[in-house]
Amino acid sequence: MKPFDFLIFALSLLLYSCVANTGSSEKTSELNAIKEEKLNSIAVLNSCSYYDKSNAETVNFFNPEIEAELNNKKIMKLVGLSSNFTIKRANVENAMATIIQSYSGIFERFILYDQNFMNSVKLSTGNDFSQWSIIAHEIGHHLSGYTLTSSGDSHKQELEADEFSGFVMYKMGATLPQVQSAIEKFCSEEGSLSHPQKKGRLAAVEKGWWNAKTSSPNSNASGRFNF
Ligand SMILES: [Zn+2]
Repeated sequence: MKPFDFLIFALSLLLYSCVANTGSSEKTSELNAIKEEKLNSIAVLNSCSYYDKSNAETVNFFNPEIEAELNNKKIMKLVGLSSNFTIKRANVENAMATIIQSYSGIFERFILYDQNFMNSVKLSTGNDFSQWSIIAHEIGHHLSGYTLTSSGDSHKQELEADEFSGFVMYKMGATLPQVQSAIEKFCSEEGSLSHPQKKGRLAAVEKGWWNAKTSSPNSNASGRFNF
């Protein structure tokens, strides 16, 4: 092979290799994107929303805000139990406790919340506790274990979760109107097939709040968590 021919041959090889590499790196990034989308996408099995029954079958989720994670830990510390769920931001209607099956086949508990919804709760109620009362409600669903069944929401389960929310939010330092403020603003007077009337939900929160107050006669503000 003449030196000139060899040069052409070498250049051709180099060019081919560059094109092949570009194609391969494009394919890799495409595969990574699909993998990422799969990892951040979950199929919702049974769920309990804060209000209205969710029709979501698949949602995308993201890491929670640090504040949400911290307050979640505070709530679990107050009830003295270890967490049996993971909290995530997601494109859900409001907030929900749910169980999903991972790609490895394991069933896991999640609390999913929409950040825009939480922001609007905080703004419209004028206090920080309102949004955490919602997260506490969802935690109540997981601790009671109902979302493991396929029976879906029922009024009894919702009222129990509201009572738990009232109980734990007292321990967080919230006043009764603060714990009730999210229900006052966002839940309907009439209720629905999945959720009870507003009046019943407010009463359940009040029951939990008073139970905490009367079972902790020595509680004082300095002994409780503040936001
Ligand atoms: Zn609920």
